[in-house]
Amino acid sequence: MKEMDPISVDTPLTKVMIAVSQSSKGYPNPSISSRQAFEWILKNLIKPCCKKQYKLLILHVQVHDEDGLEELDSVYASPSDFQHLRHKERSKGLALIKTFIKQCHDAEIECEGWVKRGDPKQIICQESRKRQPDILVLGSRGLGTLQRMFVAGVSSFCTKKVDCPVLVIKRDPKDVPDDPMDD
Ligand code: AMP
Repeated sequence: MKEMDPISVDTPLTKVMIAVSQSSKGYPNPSISSRQAFEWILKNLIKPCCKKQYKLLILHVQVHDEDGLEELDSVYASPSDFQHLRHKERSKGLALIKTFIKQCHDAEIECEGWVKRGDPKQIICQESRKRQPDILVLGSRGLGTLQRMFVAGVSSFCTKKVDCPVLVIKRDPKDVPDDPMDD
């Protein structure tokens, strides 16, 4: 019987990109939907036997931070204070990414994380065009039509706009908060 070829070292890695958001309770905790999407990848997609074949790309998009405005009161006045504020804001995003990077390292999965600023749904589409993952994974709060009239869902927008295959992982119903907009 012919033996199957082992996977060549030259085989390109399968790039799985995941977009992760912060908890509604604030940084550095991840949102429920992002955390569950990430856990789903580790449990069902990147199995221990084949983890060397994957690379996980972890993107967080930081929006204008209202907490930052409060900080402005205490550091008010010079341009360098604004610089300081930007660093502070950015470090929140980095702290979020770090929690995912650590889990990848513990699981020995190759990964890369980065933080961008702007409108999450636009930036996720832009970055996925740039990085060209084999698959984009998103969490979802599972908002209904009525709720989406008030809040534009990130996952449904990106699903329509990106070119690559998209996997959307809905939250476990038992973990949905009292206000489903929260995450
Ligand atoms: P939705 O419930 O449809 O708005 O989708 C929520 C999911 O969109 C999250 O689990 C993330 O995958 C993604 N997402 C939302 N906001 C961001 C963000 N600021 N940065 C990165 N991904 C985000």
